[in-house]
Amino acid sequence: MHADALSLLNTLFGYPAFRGEQQAIIEHVAGGGHALVLMPTGGGKSLCYQIPALMREGVGLVVSPLIALMQDQVAALTELGVAAACLNSATPPDEARDIARQARAGTLDLLYVAPERLLMPRFLEFLTGLRISLFAIDEAHCVSQWGHDFRPEYQQLGMLAERFPGVPRIALTATADPQTREDILHYLRLSDARVFLASFDRPNLFYQVVEKHNAKKQLLAFIENDYPGSSGIVYCLSRRRVEEIAAWLTENGVRALPYHAGLSHEVREANQRAFLREDGLVMVATVAFGMGIDKPDVRFVAHVDLPKSPENFYQESGRAGRDGLPAMSWLCYGLNDMVQLTQMIQGSEMAALQKQVELAKLEAMLAYCETAGCRRQTLLSHFGEASTPCGHCDNCLSPPATFDATVPVQKLLSCIYRTGQRFGASHVIDVLLGRANQHVTQAGHDTLSTFGIGRELNQRAWRSVIRQLVARKILDVDLARGQALVMTEACRPLLRGEARIALRPLADERRARSVSNDRWLRTEREERLWQALRQWRKQTADEHNVPAYAVFSDRTLRELVEQSPASAHALARIHGLGELKLARYGTALLQILDAHHERQD
Ligand code: ADP
Ligand code: ZN
Repeated sequence: MHADALSLLNTLFGYPAFRGEQQAIIEHVAGGGHALVLMPTGGGKSLCYQIPALMREGVGLVVSPLIALMQDQVAALTELGVAAACLNSATPPDEARDIARQARAGTLDLLYVAPERLLMPRFLEFLTGLRISLFAIDEAHCVSQWGHDFRPEYQQLGMLAERFPGVPRIALTATADPQTREDILHYLRLSDARVFLASFDRPNLFYQVVEKHNAKKQLLAFIENDYPGSSGIVYCLSRRRVEEIAAWLTENGVRALPYHAGLSHEVREANQRAFLREDGLVMVATVAFGMGIDKPDVRFVAHVDLPKSPENFYQESGRAGRDGLPAMSWLCYGLNDMVQLTQMIQGSEMAALQKQVELAKLEAMLAYCETAGCRRQTLLSHFGEASTPCGHCDNCLSPPATFDATVPVQKLLSCIYRTGQRFGASHVIDVLLGRANQHVTQAGHDTLSTFGIGRELNQRAWRSVIRQLVARKILDVDLARGQALVMTEACRPLLRGEARIALRPLADERRARSVSNDRWLRTEREERLWQALRQWRKQTADEHNVPAYAVFSDRTLRELVEQSPASAHALARIHGLGELKLARYGTALLQILDAHHERQD
């Protein structure tokens, strides 16, 4: 072994301590053991194979499904002084030859390859002649057909077990459900691997759910108020909506780019690249965007449409705050989301059983949105993890007081009953509010006894009542009949006056305090220094042709501002400043710090 794990962590990566089970995993793999690592996004999976690869003789092979991400990992490692490279279809032949030469000479530490490449007979032949320190199979859930990113090639990676029997294999994923876990162990022949299952709690993520009135305006207000100039991802359900929202944000002065499967490969690649490299860009995307996105300083993930399952939601929102600094998951949803998603599932080609599974997941997602309890607790319990209330989600910060809604609910139900359970929410609300519009008069509903009996609530409040009743299975939405609201068995005791019902507040006045990105910036001096450092980082990143965070993370910059180190010695104590970066950038940093020190008075 070359060096011990902790000193590599300190000197090379510039981090003071291991997180969670990193050390146990690293020691196990460095000692030649196989491992399956289940760790949430941002948990620090990469170090779990990078460090053992550096500790062991030979080159570490990393299998990863996305070329752009490999390139960024390699860029970050190269910045640290690690000999890393990636081979893919776009690698020019002479460069590939050069990489091969380095690998044979034993001077390469890590080599990233796509699974297709790894499985090519010629490549396997080449590998047989090398000394290999380990195989790391990243995004290992791709082996599972039940998962969201199934890749058939991944299943063939099991052959590495026979072909390279002495080489430790480590599979890593952020997808933890038992079915996927079984598939990974089976297909990758990891039955004798040690399984490391980390907690899926993300303590630096703040969860907030808001009712949808006008998603575009709500989103804009959210970004402008809480996250101006920050990197973020906005997830939408359809391509059309991605285009619409990206255009809306751009018109309103937020730098935003679209990403969806309908765009050409070049545009997608370029937009992803820009997002990874630049500071403060918002990516508006369908779920096609993001697998393995390794950008640590994403400050918020916003969903303007309901995700289809808690797994999807966790995965997507988990792309925020990978650097450990506070980050926000913001979800804006309305009744129509539920209807639209149900329709998509019902109308799809899936087998009946699969539809059941999908509908159950959607319901769990709705339960997350409608809960009056802690969001984090609700989410974690879905993954089978017990926890206590987090204390800083919207519900923990201002617990929704429920109120007795028996009378309005009775009015609503009798209105649905009198109109024959054949009309959707908008129509029923019009009748309740006594709006004699064309549809209402044509149906003769302006003469019903329930016409105008609900004027004590406004349209928004009625929608909220209806949404909560649907979520609680008191009402159903009949998709086959124009989304008509229909009553379930549960309505009976309510209509008869035999039961009472409590609901969450109707007008959502609760403004969950979001943890602003820049709250810690207290003085003007600090603000100026922060901006100067960011500008320097951008320039340096451009010169080196790497993403901004590969130069320094937000956390490093923040510590620089807060601690204002004045000597090389003090600099070395800053998070993320390893030996190489100190040597490379130390002087420039001290100059900037010094310039801003003088102006303080
Ligand atoms: P994952 O692959 O699990 O999503 P990464 O490996 O990309 O997560 O790590 C997320 C971020 O956390 C990266 O910026 C990484 O450098 C940082 N990180 C990982 N381990 C540590 C540690 N022990 N101390 C400080 N930062 C760490
Ligand atoms: Zn909470």
